[in-house]
Amino acid sequence: MNTSRQAVEVENLYKSFGTNEVLKGVSLMACKGEVISVLGSSGSGKSTLLRCINLLEIPNSGIIRVAGEEVLMKKNRRGGNLPADKRQVERIRSKLAMVFQQFNLWSHMTILDNVMEAPLHVLKKGRREVRESAMHYLDKVGIADKYNAYPVHLSGGQQQRAAIARALAMEPEVILFDEPTSALDPELVGEVLQVMRSLALEGRTMIVVTHEMGFAREVSSRIIFLDQGLIIEDGSPEEVFAAPKTDRFKTFVTAMM
Ligand code: ADP
Ligand code: MG
Repeated sequence: MNTSRQAVEVENLYKSFGTNEVLKGVSLMACKGEVISVLGSSGSGKSTLLRCINLLEIPNSGIIRVAGEEVLMKKNRRGGNLPADKRQVERIRSKLAMVFQQFNLWSHMTILDNVMEAPLHVLKKGRREVRESAMHYLDKVGIADKYNAYPVHLSGGQQQRAAIARALAMEPEVILFDEPTSALDPELVGEVLQVMRSLALEGRTMIVVTHEMGFAREVSSRIIFLDQGLIIEDGSPEEVFAAPKTDRFKTFVTAMM
């Protein structure tokens, strides 16, 4: 099979926490350049899905492929799954960047140092090159003038844009967003969505958990609706919004408006 167009592929993913079955056989493929919006009510397993993709959680079973490379798993003594190769996990993680609801910036570092941290210490690139590219990405998200400020002195929207610059600085193949605007005051949501829209237009591959229906409709190439650990809608925004297959999705959309 030609895997060159596949950025992320998930096949029949199961994840439980104790007796709580959160993902019950989720399959998903993101091709290069696709923007997939993942919708679903609170508790439906959206964050768990993203966290399994970048191996912050280890699925009980199922296959994950990133840029065509399958994550190798082995069994631990209790029969649970475990990544078989730590170096592979590091390599795969370096192809994925994640943007969180709560920004997760280091509070004791300036914005510039936040963006430089991982390229310097994870990718082990040279300081000059890293600084230059960090400034480039800060400029791209519109906060180059804040490079020397600490996160606490930035608005939530600026902090989230800094977090996006930090993700971009790793030059990932895929960016995973977990409700990037949910912690923001309403008047700051637009500036972050604008940056995300420009990344989509550049052809970046993005998987975005969001409650922003406008963004999902206008920017994504595909919509996925997760309900109780299963994908029950999957299609283009036109298909999914104009002709939803399930009452669950109709109810969800009505509640969001
Ligand atoms: P969503 O992001 O769609 O709101 P989550 O993926 O965060 O949903 O959570 C789905 C379910 O999994 C919830 O019932 C939540 O309590 C549970 N869960 C998530 N993470 C953990 C964890 N680390 N340990 C135990 N339960 C968890
Ligand atoms: Mg969540």
